Amino acid sequence: MVSTEPKAEDVFLLHGVYIIDADNTLWDTNEVFLGAQIRMIENMRENGCSLETGAALEFLRALDFRLAVALDDFEYDYSRLACALFLVDRGRPENEAVRLATAAVPPAPEWDRARLAGRVFYTHLQAHCPPLFFGVAETLAALRSGGNTLVLHSEGRHERIAETLSAHNLDPFFHHTALERKSQDSFRRARLAGEAYFAQTKGRSPDHCVVVGDSPKRDIRFGNIIGATTVFKPGGWLGTELPDDPLLTPDYTISCFTELLELGTK
Ligand SMILES: [Mg+2]
Repeated sequence: MVSTEPKAEDVFLLHGVYIIDADNTLWDTNEVFLGAQIRMIENMRENGCSLETGAALEFLRALDFRLAVALDDFEYDYSRLACALFLVDRGRPENEAVRLATAAVPPAPEWDRARLAGRVFYTHLQAHCPPLFFGVAETLAALRSGGNTLVLHSEGRHERIAETLSAHNLDPFFHHTALERKSQDSFRRARLAGEAYFAQTKGRSPDHCVVVGDSPKRDIRFGNIIGATTVFKPGGWLGTELPDDPLLTPDYTISCFTELLELGTK
């Protein structure tokens, strides 16, 4: 059990600024996205897609990252993903499907059907708030009451992140929110904002900066680049595997959010 008693500053070995990711770190976005993707595929099957759900999901996962990179946007309009799947189902090679689905105007008739499927996807997302992982609210409360500065850094769609924060009453825990595309510069800005708040309220600089996230490439890499202590908290989307690359290797790996407090206990 996590204690909800206020923690004193001196119990934290890593005391200072915590930069924390949102999706699949604080809450289980993957569970809700998976449900929305299945609804989307069911709709596509009703509208002429012959891929069975399992195969379509497998393609979807393969194509999703490629579309995100091609569009330079990790939360692009998922109608484009449905469009790419329709094109693959029509026998187009994957490369061509990605190119056509990311064009300014994707080809009809696939695009018309894809937009219907996209609507089904977003309707499901709006109706299902992702559940918090175990111990998140208690851990944030304990970190905050122990005098740490908490910064949320997410590249998810602003309205969705704001709505999820609010639905779980998490806003009051964060001193600063950085909703922008992740990069080493964005993490430096998040750190500076956290350090400024810490210095303003405590009259001294923080001893540590800690970055917590589920993505080796989007969280751990940038945390390591800015010289933070990095904590990998695997979620359902990317799994627990770590690439064999020192830049993507965290200082700590935790399986439960509450372990953040144990790491910091002297
Ligand atoms: Mg994440």
